[in-house]
Amino acid sequence: MADPRSWIVVGAGPAGLLAARRLARAGHDVTVFESAPHVGGRVSLHEVDGLSLDAGAESFASRGGQVAALARDLGLGDKIVGPEPLPAWIVTPQDAYPLPKAGWLGVPTVSLARDVRRAIGWSGALRAAADRVLPVGDVDDSTSLGDLARDRIGAAATDRLVAPVVQGIYSRPLDEIALGDIAPGLAQQIRDKGGLIRAATARRAAAPAGAAVQGLVGGIGTLSQALAADARAAGARIVTDASVGSVERSRHGWSVWVDGERHHADEVVLAVPQPVVAALLPDVAWAQDRQVALVTLVLDAPELDSAPRGTGVLATGFSSGAKALTHATAKWRWLAVAAEGKHVVRLSYGIDNAVDARSHALADASALLGVNLRETQVREMVRVQWHDSAPAAVEDREPLPGLHLVGSAAGATGLVSIVADDARATLGA
Ligand SMILES: Cc1cc2nc3c(=O)[nH]c(=O)nc-3n(C[C@H](O)[C@H](O)[C@H](O)COP(=O)(O)OP(=O)(O)OC[C@H]3O[C@@H](n4cnc5c(N)ncnc54)[C@H](O)[C@@H]3O)c2cc1C
Repeated sequence: MADPRSWIVVGAGPAGLLAARRLARAGHDVTVFESAPHVGGRVSLHEVDGLSLDAGAESFASRGGQVAALARDLGLGDKIVGPEPLPAWIVTPQDAYPLPKAGWLGVPTVSLARDVRRAIGWSGALRAAADRVLPVGDVDDSTSLGDLARDRIGAAATDRLVAPVVQGIYSRPLDEIALGDIAPGLAQQIRDKGGLIRAATARRAAAPAGAAVQGLVGGIGTLSQALAADARAAGARIVTDASVGSVERSRHGWSVWVDGERHHADEVVLAVPQPVVAALLPDVAWAQDRQVALVTLVLDAPELDSAPRGTGVLATGFSSGAKALTHATAKWRWLAVAAEGKHVVRLSYGIDNAVDARSHALADASALLGVNLRETQVREMVRVQWHDSAPAAVEDREPLPGLHLVGSAAGATGLVSIVADDARATLGA
């Protein structure tokens, strides 16, 4: 190991906690400052109508197996669960249809399957199948997914299947998403395999068997709590309610100001959303802040017992800005048990509609679930606004000597990327 040094980690979301744990285990002196009263950031719990629920992220992708391995390492192995085997739905203002079972990012891999025909009709399905015979032209990492998909599988499959899924993940229009944003090597794979459907089939085959996502009994916010406990056990100090106001180079390292008090460290890790990095280091970073609002409703609604829209809905074309709905008690068995007959529904909204989302959430939930929900059925409604839902890729993770970026600050989105990055990290080595 390198000589022990002093480190300050700013932010106790999953990325900051992983960094703190790694550094403390390597024998460094580590202090974490977190502005909120609790750890976890976007992977934390909140209480709604007496239920402990995930306030942001609620599952992790099973691809790669790293997050499950981390959960096991933290003693949460017996809490790992899969979602209920129900379909997700796509709902437009005109109609509703289940997302076809066989597919990758909405690309239907069995183009003529019954559920594909239900979604896009015979003509749409036949047009999608043409991808298998059309010659592949110029495709590279900068090609827009929207252009490519329309060209390969036609407008119906693109607009009614791919767009709702991909826009739901990346929070921006399909035409602004390049193939390289989705996965390195995807453009090459489309060229090599001879089409989008063959590439999608290969991607799907490479994914582990079983559900694409997993969760934890008690919510994935418990992962952050366990990580914090492990980092503390390794010697890290984690200070909550401690907002970092500025970060400056000093003669022998870095000065970090917390509520008017100066702290010194040899090295600093920024594990905060990119707009916070930009505010702390205006000369080094700039960030566009894409926000999302999440509205959680706890309902007395027996009409939802039959899970009319499976585990949830991807919404497309709604003027209210509703992007997705998760019927959390239909998706997670443990939550249905904890909720004792009540229903938990989560709606997400993009930036333009984040502010007044509460006012139309019940109407949106009714439209998306296909039932008529009344005010009197709402036990509690909570809205949380999150920043930086689509952080931009960052070239240099140490933009100044001794100043490191991890997690969202480094352009990573989702627990899988953050945990995989930590496993590759050379911080403090
Ligand atoms: C609604 C929503 C749903 C999501 N769903 C999923 C999902 O299901 N699966 C998945 O894998 N990912 C999901 N994500 C993405 C995932 O939550 C993020 O990629 C991840 O939390 C980023 O981790 P992080 O540690 O980089 O940042 P964060 O989790 O944002 O943590 C940053 C921390 O920094 C703190 N902070 C900010 N400013 C300061 C300051 N000045 N001083 C001190 N501390 C500060 C914050 O309070 C916060 O605790 C979701 C995100 C959102 C918003």
